[in-house]
Amino acid sequence: MGDINIRVRKEVIKCKKCGNPKSFFYLSDFAYGQRLIFLKDATKYAFINLIEDIYFLDYTNMVKEILSENSIDFTNETLDDIVNETYGITCDLIDECVVDFSQTQKKCNVCHSTEFERNLIEPESLIEIEVPVISHNRWEVMSRDERKEIVKKELISKNKILLI
Ligand SMILES: [Zn+2]
Repeated sequence: MGDINIRVRKEVIKCKKCGNPKSFFYLSDFAYGQRLIFLKDATKYAFINLIEDIYFLDYTNMVKEILSENSIDFTNETLDDIVNETYGITCDLIDECVVDFSQTQKKCNVCHSTEFERNLIEPESLIEIEVPVISHNRWEVMSRDERKEIVKKELISKNKILLI
């Protein structure tokens, strides 16, 4: 699908442990349904618009179906968490990285600490970055049954359902 330019708010803060600066990028709060996905300790990014994404709703329904078939209770919140944690399996690799929607950018690239100072070390700025758009070419060619089988395996491997 190629790359797009998106506008992000940039904050630079220091790692609490080693003192190295790290830039953090945020989409506008009004960018409803849009997500910036962090890859490789947030040294790479990808973009998705979940409202326009053609598989997201069907995927969510599929997870619901599988949970119900396995008599697993869930709330909207746990469902969201499970979808967030597993939706990457529908996505093509980006620069050989697996897309993981649950990865956060709160990790120092140098020492891997997840703790950062509170104060910005430079004024917050709005910048434009070019990022790849998440695609589903592999997912697209599968039948719904094949997809459901993969989702089931993923839920088992993430301990969301037990193999019966
Ligand atoms: Zn550090």
